[in-house]
Amino acid sequence: MRDEFERIFGAAPTGVWAAPGRVNLIGEHTDYNDGFVLPIALPQAVKVAARVRTDGRLRLYSAQGDDVVTDLSVAELAPGAVTTWAGYPAGVVWALREQGHQVGGADLYFDSDVPSGAGLSSSAALECAVAAVYRDLYELELTAAESALLAQQAENRFAGVPCGVMDQMASACCVEGSALFLDTRDLTQRQVPFPLDAQGLTLLVIDTRVKHDLGDGAYAALRAGCERAAALLGLPALRDLPAAALPDAIAELPAELGPLVRHVVTENGRVGQAVELLERGEYAALGPILTAGHASLRDDFKVSCPEADLAVSAAVAAGALGARMTGGGFGGSVIALTPKESAWPVEQAVTAAFLAAGYAAPNVFAVTAAAGARRLA
Ligand code: ADP
Ligand code: MG
Repeated sequence: MRDEFERIFGAAPTGVWAAPGRVNLIGEHTDYNDGFVLPIALPQAVKVAARVRTDGRLRLYSAQGDDVVTDLSVAELAPGAVTTWAGYPAGVVWALREQGHQVGGADLYFDSDVPSGAGLSSSAALECAVAAVYRDLYELELTAAESALLAQQAENRFAGVPCGVMDQMASACCVEGSALFLDTRDLTQRQVPFPLDAQGLTLLVIDTRVKHDLGDGAYAALRAGCERAAALLGLPALRDLPAAALPDAIAELPAELGPLVRHVVTENGRVGQAVELLERGEYAALGPILTAGHASLRDDFKVSCPEADLAVSAAVAAGALGARMTGGGFGGSVIALTPKESAWPVEQAVTAAFLAAGYAAPNVFAVTAAAGARRLA
């Protein structure tokens, strides 16, 4: 990366930083309902070599990008002005300045092994990598959570993508070997040990390689549906509905909102159950919670797709302890928890099922709980 940086920008970088992608173990579509999530950071990360520029220019190049250097004026950054991938990193610089940080330009060279657009949050990784660079090079007092909030601002307001806070919190705050139990209302967090390998378990990511176009509009509609249900129930957010009050709430709500509410309330419950099990060391017992979460996303929230459903059913039939779609849905990735010795049979079975159904082979790989954003060199 140092050589490439020098070739492109004509000088050596000051250092190299990294920020990971993530998978969420459980707690899907809960983060915009003030609820609970339990992501891990992936070993796959966006790496960025960087140095400060004093002329107010922000120059960006990605090894996975468009093979041009994007050259921007920091002072002229504005929402909507950058419509390429460069909007994610540039948005972080904009968000820092919006918050009153006196930051200027930089040369940034990105190289990533986070599959892009696979529901593994490559966009949050890009943003969090830039936040880490700026924190260190401009000597800013920023906690990991503050960096995550800036990164979310970049995605929401600069790049114009509505998303909750989970992805950026995972990329910024995760700790190696642990899952991040996060309350998205007040951002209180607890690191929950997740030592899979020592327990004889494997976590597979199954990237279905599909993205169904209904995604973006559907996300906004689901979000609006959840907010309307909370308002009708007189609650600040669906997180505030106790599980015991669920049947009455469903009876009271318009028919189309009941299943949304049931998903959110039961999903928050599953996060709590999962944390309890992990903290008791009952790692394999996480499996059925994953599969129950998938059924809820498929049947109540209706954000799954045939490819993800097939990945889950084929994985479980081949010996996975549990499996679920992860991320927003309509494609993207599935996770499967397997005994170590079943990982390869599960991978083979899922691939065979995809080919038999006429789908392209999925991209399957094992992951562990990795570290959040950090300086590498
Ligand atoms: P996800 O975050 O799940 O991977 P998104 O659609 O939110 O999916 O983000 C993918 C987008 O992020 C890509 O279309 C691209 O604009 C940008 N991106 C991700 N990784 C890179 C990279 N290594 N280089 C350049 N752009 C990237
Ligand atoms: Mg994203």
